Amino acid sequence: MRRLLLLTLLLLPAVALLRAQAPQAPPQEPKLILFVAIDQFRYDYLPRFRDEYKGGLKTLLDRGAVFANAHLEHYPSVTAVGHSTMMSGATPAISGIIGNDWYDRETSKQVTSVSDPLGKLLGAAGEASSPKRLLVSTIGDELKRSGSPDSKVIGISMKDRGAILPAGHMADAAYWFDNASGAFVSSDYYFPQTPAWVQAFNAAGHVKEYAGKTWVAGRTMPTEPGPKLNAAVYGSSYGNDLLESFAEDLIREEKLGQRGVTDVLTVGFSSNDSVGHTYGPDSPEAHAVSVGVDGSLGRLFAAVESAVGIENVLVVLTADHSVSPLPEVLESQKMPGGRVLGDFFAPARAALEAKYGPGNWIEATAGTSPYFNYKLMDEQGVDRAEAEDIVAAVMREHPQVARVYTRQQILAGRAAYDAIDSRVLRSFNPQRSGDLEIVLNPFWIRSTSGTTHGSPYNYDTHIPLIFMGPGIKPGRYYKAAALNDAAPTIAALLDIEMPSGSLGRILDEIIK
Ligand SMILES: [Zn+2]
Repeated sequence: MRRLLLLTLLLLPAVALLRAQAPQAPPQEPKLILFVAIDQFRYDYLPRFRDEYKGGLKTLLDRGAVFANAHLEHYPSVTAVGHSTMMSGATPAISGIIGNDWYDRETSKQVTSVSDPLGKLLGAAGEASSPKRLLVSTIGDELKRSGSPDSKVIGISMKDRGAILPAGHMADAAYWFDNASGAFVSSDYYFPQTPAWVQAFNAAGHVKEYAGKTWVAGRTMPTEPGPKLNAAVYGSSYGNDLLESFAEDLIREEKLGQRGVTDVLTVGFSSNDSVGHTYGPDSPEAHAVSVGVDGSLGRLFAAVESAVGIENVLVVLTADHSVSPLPEVLESQKMPGGRVLGDFFAPARAALEAKYGPGNWIEATAGTSPYFNYKLMDEQGVDRAEAEDIVAAVMREHPQVARVYTRQQILAGRAAYDAIDSRVLRSFNPQRSGDLEIVLNPFWIRSTSGTTHGSPYNYDTHIPLIFMGPGIKPGRYYKAAALNDAAPTIAALLDIEMPSGSLGRILDEIIK
């Protein structure tokens, strides 16, 4: 009797534990992660055009977890950095993707975030691209490594960097658009040749379907097939439509989400960026391409619904950056801002020559960052820290320079009192970055026409961030969120390892 009692007592905690565990069923595994990035999409395009959205953006706004205060917590706010951050959770200091391009000291050449001189482009003539410069892992990489090697991970975009960087190193494929040929191309990094369905899609010559068409009043496509038509399609709403058609073939042919494992598809709609740069965010063209991408996304959701069932799909939508209004529009509204024209680094070169004598002291620049000529400085016994201070002092006198950071200052962590400083600090990579980081005043840009992005200010960093699908609590969320919170949140939902460089927060407020 006593033994029975003892046994019962011993078993009690186990029974209690089982009871407590019963409701904690593992979250439903999505069949597909559909990660959508719209290139250059301002947060305010959501409220501004909300009444006109009838497609995918409407579905996301109605049924998703919508962040009203999501920002890029990095600098510069450009395409490659945004796309390298969204599925890695890493900022440029760690990911190594410090810009769309930079100066590579090892080869003394300008490189892009994905340029791969050893690779071979598949499907057209030209330079190859691959994720080799990305130093960190992505969600796709960690999913495959976390016991799901059969998961397919594929990235597509009109831009190489938009396709390659979110997908990651172990991706099964990445496809992007080649303006010269009008084909979707890839690289021998992924396979020796593109699959037959890709070749068939290209052979069908879908670009021609847009010849002579008008996408917004006054903007008509060339009538003749060729590079001009290809570029015009890319720079209009039709570019998004074309990419969406490609995505539909891909989901069907690769059977994404239909194979009993979780697959990952990243889709980068690039045409919004091209339109925004040319016409500015307040133009009828930006309006048209925003409503247009809502339609493309609606068709993509319909395809996913019939192939996988949208309730089995974790959808994440975001943007790689926003954009500044056109300086001329700002001026007409009595707002600050303008164009910084002329040779930006002339005062820096002059100051170095005044101190150290004639010489090519700055051997390259990337954006507003100069790269000193280390070889010459070493030969002449120039103290680099002193040279940095000289350039910093003269650049601070520029009427439109807001802040200057030297390499020594950043490496010593001597600056971080607000978000602007921390965005710059967390984006400095000692091997790849230049010797100073120079930030202009708000709304000042260096483009001679149109507009651009790249600054650490809200008009460039405030982005949409929406989650929808299994395990997500719909609603509107006001707590601060960052683009680099997306990857750790997806990792938590999938219960897989964190991407290697992720510094983001799990957005647990949206998790059921
Ligand atoms: Zn972009």
